[in-house]
Amino acid sequence: MGSPGIDVRHIGIVGAGTMGIGIAASCVAGGFDVTLIDSQPTVLASGMQRVRALIDGAVKKGRLDQEAGAAAKSRLATASDIGAAAVAQLVIEAVFENLQLKQEIFRKLDAILPAQALIATNTSTLDVDAIAAATQRPENVIGMHFFSPAHVMPLVEIVRGALSSAASIAAARAVSARIGKRAVVVGNCFGFVGNRMLYAYGRENQFMLLEGVAAERIDAVLEGFGMAMGPNAVGDLAGLDVGYRVRRERKDLPDDPRYYRVADLLVEHGRLGQKSGRGMYLYSSDSRARTVDPQVQRLIRDEAARLKVAPREVSDAEIIERCIYALINEGAAILGAGIASSPEDIDVIWCNGYGFPRARGGPMAYAGSIGLGTVLDGVSRMAAAQGARFWTAAPLLRKLAASNESFAAWQTLRAARPTQI
Ligand code: NAD
Repeated sequence: MGSPGIDVRHIGIVGAGTMGIGIAASCVAGGFDVTLIDSQPTVLASGMQRVRALIDGAVKKGRLDQEAGAAAKSRLATASDIGAAAVAQLVIEAVFENLQLKQEIFRKLDAILPAQALIATNTSTLDVDAIAAATQRPENVIGMHFFSPAHVMPLVEIVRGALSSAASIAAARAVSARIGKRAVVVGNCFGFVGNRMLYAYGRENQFMLLEGVAAERIDAVLEGFGMAMGPNAVGDLAGLDVGYRVRRERKDLPDDPRYYRVADLLVEHGRLGQKSGRGMYLYSSDSRARTVDPQVQRLIRDEAARLKVAPREVSDAEIIERCIYALINEGAAILGAGIASSPEDIDVIWCNGYGFPRARGGPMAYAGSIGLGTVLDGVSRMAAAQGARFWTAAPLLRKLAASNESFAAWQTLRAARPTQI
């Protein structure tokens, strides 16, 4: 299988943490031999047990039959030395989100792997070209951005670096298909498509928290809109420390003290989310049910006072508009810049990776259903009320609203006359 020259049979996975384990389970279940590698022997031993438990779970749920489960487990090997990856045709790196560390891993892999082998990074936000530059084979380097939990979530963003070859993309597509994931090819920028849009959506949630809107109300309103989980519940599930570390790495953060301040504040108080039993919400050890914590409400109120953010009345409609229009506007910017190839790709990513309601089609289809003029009016209203800094309408949104077109209609026209648009 795979494209000419890249026949993937054995996959190396570097990093046996949250993501590495889920990716390993998907790959052995999909019929690949896997070598799971972690520098920490204790992590590796528990990682092996956890992959086996995920396979047993899939058998119990009837997703794999007994025989397939046993075969999947027999395809898993582990190693603490990265040299063990040398047998693989594809290595997926899933170590901590740190550019220097990832570059070091890629340099080592480049030295030991056969020339035609592919190296993929599961980074959520880092520059795939900067990682590829650590190797002598940038054409064989791509992003494969899985979603958590990776053995369950049906999506992979395949990130095309500036030098990634068509054969590398084709091989990554083939591997994704074989492990039952829907692959969307995206361009390389901070956060790619999904997480870049998530940052715009989450930014408004964070600002509204400082304006005195309760987290549980924002979550309930967005869940009422159809999101599988509200943004504050999602933050606790994913772990607030993940975004905190990403923001420490970024050199291009907006110079605004309100920006993701509540999330950072929670981490500074040791509230990492479900993993530490408390984040925005409190969690009991025997259940994932969330309860409101008055201590958090006080923390946010004090921080808002310190930052001189006055409390405001915010309607349910404003909660939806601020979060969803921010999402659509960022989607339009991404589309206009060619980071996503089509509005459908964005919708597939948001429905399969971020719990956007399928019944609404995805953010770009939803924008078409309410009319891009409505979205642009909303964005202009936000700019008047909040300032243009975060609310400058994307040129594509402006252009299509002016001609009363949808993103889907624009795409159809563009596909038919690619040289004229
Ligand atoms: P994690 O902290 O759970 O696991 C990272 C693992 O890497 C650890 O087990 C660690 O021992 C290992 N490691 C560190 N240095 C190593 C080295 N030099 N050699 C071998 N192993 C090494 O992290 P995670 O949440 O699984 O995230 C991994 C990557 O996936 C990150 O780039 C992250 O941004 C990305 N990602 C995470 C999520 C998520 O929701 N957690 C989702 C998508 C992508």
